[in-house]
Amino acid sequence: MVVKTNEEVERLKENAIIVSKTLAEVAKHIKPGVKTITLDHIAEKFIRAEGAVSAFKGYRGFPGTLCISINEEVVHGIPGERVLTNGDVVSIDCGCLKHGFYGDSAYTFPVGEVKPDVMDLLKRTKESLFRALDVALAGKRVGDISSAVQDYVESFGYSVVRELVGHGLGKQLHEKPDIPNYGRQGSGSKLHDGLVICIEPMINMGTKNVVQAADGWTIWTADKQPSAHFELTIVVRKEVPDVLSTFSFIEEVLGPNKI
Ligand code: MG
Ligand code: MG
Repeated sequence: MVVKTNEEVERLKENAIIVSKTLAEVAKHIKPGVKTITLDHIAEKFIRAEGAVSAFKGYRGFPGTLCISINEEVVHGIPGERVLTNGDVVSIDCGCLKHGFYGDSAYTFPVGEVKPDVMDLLKRTKESLFRALDVALAGKRVGDISSAVQDYVESFGYSVVRELVGHGLGKQLHEKPDIPNYGRQGSGSKLHDGLVICIEPMINMGTKNVVQAADGWTIWTADKQPSAHFELTIVVRKEVPDVLSTFSFIEEVLGPNKI
């Protein structure tokens, strides 16, 4: 695994802020009745105005700027004519590329009035990401991050998707090391000062098992129960991680409705 120079971190930070602000811009338009393709177009326009391009559009043929995954869809949903309805939860993953470096962030939004048990899944998933940040320190191991997420969410009866994991980030969208959301404390490769990683718990209300839809992209929960996804990019440091992306722009938009 390759650690980043301060100059590279600055570039990555610029991208991290772009994806953070893009998600906030999209958040303004999330409500019952909106088509997911409309959200995709808003994101595309915003990313271009920032002098960046979507990291996902064209990636292995993916057609959207965003991945938009509703309810039982875990990740990699394709934006289209589907309309958001009251009570949905929608996971939006945004990636961008500027000056040869990537940004990558995700957030799961409630649409209108969402049932309390589903809101709890969102809250716990988001909190698991912050539990992971507490142990994402130089000298710790990947497994410390993994177990922080897993132990926390499983204590509420939720399950961790195994097939999809966090990752290093830099001049590639997915770099080493993989950052699974399940694993044993003290296991896996060592975290070094300057390592840039995306931590992204994907947590299911029911079974951990997932299936891929016929479109070749969308991942669903096998039992069709809801799933949640939150993602931030950080630089591993000695005392506290340097968190490059932020949910603060999103939460400003959500106001009292924030997760
Ligand atoms: Mg992502
Ligand atoms: Mg990612």
